[in-house]
Amino acid sequence: MNESRHINIPIFVPHMGCPHACIFCDQKRISGTLTKQSPELAKDILIKSFSTIEDGSEVEIAFFGGSFTAIPEDEMIAYLELTKPYIGSGKASGIRLSTRPDAITPHILDILEMYKVSTIELGVQSLDEEVLRESQRGHGIEDVHRACQLIKQRRISLGIQTMLGLPKDNFQKSLATAKAVIGLKPQMVRIYPAIVLKHTALEDYYLKGKYTPLSVDEAVEWCAEILPLYTESGIRILRVGLQGSDTLEDAIVAGPYHPAFGELVESRIICNQIIKKLDKSVSVDSNKGSKDGKKITIISNPKLISKIIGQKRANIKAIKKRYNLDEIVIKQNPEQEGFLIK
Ligand code: SF4
Repeated sequence: MNESRHINIPIFVPHMGCPHACIFCDQKRISGTLTKQSPELAKDILIKSFSTIEDGSEVEIAFFGGSFTAIPEDEMIAYLELTKPYIGSGKASGIRLSTRPDAITPHILDILEMYKVSTIELGVQSLDEEVLRESQRGHGIEDVHRACQLIKQRRISLGIQTMLGLPKDNFQKSLATAKAVIGLKPQMVRIYPAIVLKHTALEDYYLKGKYTPLSVDEAVEWCAEILPLYTESGIRILRVGLQGSDTLEDAIVAGPYHPAFGELVESRIICNQIIKKLDKSVSVDSNKGSKDGKKITIISNPKLISKIIGQKRANIKAIKKRYNLDEIVIKQNPEQEGFLIK
């Protein structure tokens, strides 16, 4: 079967059009673009990128890194105009962009639909008013509901970005946010644990001892509880944790950044699943009682082995300790769907 490759051509518009200063935001660094973007530069990016793309690839042009729809209208249209030859000729299948909930209006959506924007990713961050206020987002929950409702009336897919561990956040609030996001029925989500970056207000809070970021382990645990809720609801998870880059790593002051954060989360999810199954087997089979001193065998599809074991054998160690096991044997079986515990 000849599957087409999906490619995003990212055009970062750092902080453009954004009149706000969210306490965690240093868009210029996150997007790795320290120079100002312009339609001329964006045109060059498109020409260069399309010259290297193989035929048959599914391509989207992605305006990321700021609040695209808050850019002055004529400038926003100048960027959208650049995409016309590629959309018109079928070389690009659509446009995706990121923006703020309060920068969505019926008029803006008319323009975006005219240019065949296919996906809008809304920076929602939290659906807790106190967290939004503390983060100085400058919008409330009502703006999020209104924007999502407006987008869903159009032929445009909805993505939602949330952050975990912002000031005044806690696990229960992040869980409630995830459930509320599911209620908004987006097609996709991105989940970012809050990181303290240089030259942000959050850095000041952190240095003055007013803010403690999540540890990597806490962030992994929160995400491992939250992600399955999205997947069970059929919502695609586009990304968990910030994409690493030298620019980003130089800018990190503190917080749960790990270059393989997504893998840590996947591995923790599997660890939680194993624990759930073992807990059940102990409680349903009274003859087994405790698993003290026993050996268990996990038969797994080869694709899952490294996630079952965990980084530095973290899962194996945790499960052995929890159930006082002598040994965990892992066997590969390509026919096995997921894993099975014996
Ligand atoms: S709205 Fe977005 S671009 Fe603007 S300050 Fe907040 S996070 Fe940064």
